[in-house]
Amino acid sequence: MQIYKLKVNTNRCFGCNDCVVSCPLNFNQLRKDSYLSQENAVLLVKNGVAYPIYKEGREVNCDGCGVCIEICPARAIQIECVEEV
Ligand code: SF4
Ligand code: SF4
Repeated sequence: MQIYKLKVNTNRCFGCNDCVVSCPLNFNQLRKDSYLSQENAVLLVKNGVAYPIYKEGREVNCDGCGVCIEICPARAIQIECVEEV
């Protein structure tokens, strides 16, 4: 199984929220639940900085699509793919 880990460069991120609203998984969760929170989102902004949320065993976790990376005006997001047995 592949796990995608996002890294946000906190020196570059200025909290614009573009990554959060562009993430297709976040969008699906928002449509389903009508809100985004730590429980259902894969990426959120808090205190002016974006942060990824990964939870083992959760139905939805980042699938590595790269949309947030492309959209970020500050080029603050990197992604790492980790294989888990
Ligand atoms: S799009 Fe980039 S600058 Fe904007 S909140 Fe996300 S990581 Fe930060
Ligand atoms: S890589 Fe795709 S699924 Fe993962 S946080 Fe970014 S936009 Fe969402």
